[in-house]
Parts: sequence; C-alpha cells; structure tokens
Amino acid sequence: MQRVLILMSDTGGGHRASAQALMGVFAERYADRFDVQMIDLWRHYTPWPINQVPKSYRTLVTDAVWLWKMAWRASEKEFLTEPSLRLVGRLVRKAMCRAFIEYQPDLVISVHPLMQHAPLHLIRHQLGMTIPFVTVVTDLVSIAPIWYHPGVALCFVASEEAVRRARRAGLRDDQIRLCGLPIRPAFSRPVGEKTDLRLALSLDADRLTALLVGGGEGMGPVGDIARSIAERLAADGRHAQLVIICGRNEELRQKLAAQRWPIPVRVEGFVQNMPDWMAASDCVVTKAGPGTIAEALICGLPILLSGFVPGQEEGNVPFVVDNDVGAYSNKRTEIAAILSRWFGPEQAKLAQMGVKAKSMGRPQATFEIVDEIAKLMEK
Ligand code: UDP
Repeated sequence: MQRVLILMSDTGGGHRASAQALMGVFAERYADRFDVQMIDLWRHYTPWPINQVPKSYRTLVTDAVWLWKMAWRASEKEFLTEPSLRLVGRLVRKAMCRAFIEYQPDLVISVHPLMQHAPLHLIRHQLGMTIPFVTVVTDLVSIAPIWYHPGVALCFVASEEAVRRARRAGLRDDQIRLCGLPIRPAFSRPVGEKTDLRLALSLDADRLTALLVGGGEGMGPVGDIARSIAERLAADGRHAQLVIICGRNEELRQKLAAQRWPIPVRVEGFVQNMPDWMAASDCVVTKAGPGTIAEALICGLPILLSGFVPGQEEGNVPFVVDNDVGAYSNKRTEIAAILSRWFGPEQAKLAQMGVKAKSMGRPQATFEIVDEIAKLMEK
C-alpha cells in the first residue's frame, strides 16, 4: 500500500469538503493501492499562536473584512509573501516536520493555499524526502499566487483563468491540469425526480423550492436574506418554499428555527446530503463559495449570489453572471425581487440558466484528478 497524506485546514468548509471528495474517490477506485489520510496541518502541526489561524478565519472574513482584504492584497505581492513565508516556515519547522515523520507519506496532496511553500521546503530540504507533492486548487477563478509552487509534480485547477495564473507563477504546462473542482463523488451519481426527492426530504412536492446557504460556516446575513425572500414570495403569491441550510452556525439555526414564516420554510444545520437538497431545489441563493457554485452547476441549479468573501471569491461573481447561470446582488430586497421573478414571469429564463449550468458542471473532475495522481504513482 502506498501512503497518501492530504493537507487541509478548516478555513471555510471547502477545503475539508475537497479533501473528503478526494478520499471518497481513492476509497472507491483504489482501496487496494492507497492508504489515504487527511490532516489539518495548520491546526495540529504548527505552534501557538499560528495554530489559531484557522479558528479566527470566520471572524476575520465576517467581522474584520478590512483586515482580510489587506492580508489578501498583501498575499498578491511577492516582495511581501517571500519573506513572510520564509519566516512562517522557520516558526513551524519543528512541528510541521513531525507530521511527515509520523505519517511517512509516499505522496502529499495539498488542498489549501497556505500549504505549498512551508511543507514543500521542509519535505525537500529538512527531511530530504523526494516524494511527489501535488496541489489541488480549491478556488475557482481568483487564485492567490501562494497556491502555486513550481516544485509540485502536478497542480490541478478548475478554470482557464486559474491556468493563466499558474503559468504566470512559473509552472510549466506539463505540471498544470485543468479538471474542475474536486466535488464529492455523491454529486456525480444519477438522482431521481425532483418531486420524489422533495417527498423524501419531507418537503412539499409541488412548490418551487429555493435553497439558501452560506457556505460550510453559515456565513453572511443568511437570516435577513431568508426573511426578505419569504416575505416577498408570500406577497407575490408564489407557490414556493424555502430551505435554509445554516451549516455549522448553530446559533443561526436555532434562531431561524424558532421564527414564524409566511411561506413553508425548512431550517437545517450542517447537512451531510447536500446533493439531495440541491437536486430537490430549483435554484440556490448563496455567497460566492467555489464549492457551492461547482456543486450547483453539476446539479443544473441557477445561482443567485448574495455576496462574496473579498479576495478569493471575487472572481466567482463575474464567472456566474457572465456565463448566464445566475445573478448577483448584495441587497436583500433585490435578491428577494430577483427570486420572485425567477419563480414568476421569468420561469423560462430560470430553466435556461439551469440547462446552461448543467452544461458547465464537471461531475467527473474528482475522478480525473485521482486517476491522474494514481498514474503519477505508477511511474
Ligand atoms: N456544505 C455541506 N453541508 C452544509 C453546508 C455546506 O456539506 O450544511 C458544503 C457544501 O456542499 C460545499 C462546502 O460545504 O461543498 C462549502 O464550500 P464553499 O466553497 O461554497 O464555501 P466555504 O464554506 O468554503 O466558504
């Protein structure tokens, strides 16, 4: 058995979801060849206070957006990132080396922007290991330069723009693979009829269904948007229902579950069966999270974007709008109005966007990525 170590960190839900997607396909296709483990390298193999970074991510991108914007802009400037990465590399050296000594991997896969430079440097120069290192980029369009390291064996990306940026960062074409985002294999399985799925989820089978999510952490003004949507759909007499998925934001789940709503509303916490909820819906309202966008495309769901994390999610807005698979507004009354039109006079447009979305989905991406990695290990 060859040992594969996936490096991720829980900053948002996307990196863990991507790591799990890869693990799922390794287990499905190569259970007899690879033993795959995943670790939160940042949280468990760096010293304090660096190990607190993942925990503060949500606060940073919601309550201290200006600081996050500054950090993001700084991460685009090589003259700033070079010395910072070198300094961080020195601070984490001992703890991080422990991970590679403990796991003795034959291959390392990173699904996190902060896990190229320090790990690669330590693996090569501190530990003298010559194992292949692979990056799977989990952002869609706005890719920070720190995602790219010319020392990787392969770098998987999900858009033409990401390919261009990889080239600019010094990667050769034979290192770059354009496959799509690593989405859980459950999204590639055939699903049943929408009405049957709604019944299975105890929803009204006949009502048009909007799915409202705020990433894995339930981020953004999800509650306010939900209220505006419900009131507008009720006022316009739409035969509709709303599903709100609060992710790991338990406080939000409790608050919304205790409220009275003018249309049928279902409130869920962190769901494990996102493919079912998406397949049962007619559109999704979400912040511009790359994972949710890629999943919605696979499910043929039009996407109404309600906001974005500055930096890494910015490019996802024109990606959705310019490709005619959805719309964007950060005003809750406008979001509600758009949705009401989609569920009213613009149902034909909604259907068209759904068809376009489906044509852009890459349900096989995770399989392609894992097959390529398996091939790499045959050499
Ligand atoms: N997700 C999930 N269950 C939930 C909420 C979210 O499985 O209850 C998954 C969602 O399907 C997607 C990921 O979490 O795969 C969110 O990733 P995205 O890139 O959209 O946003 P992030 O949370 O990383 O900011």
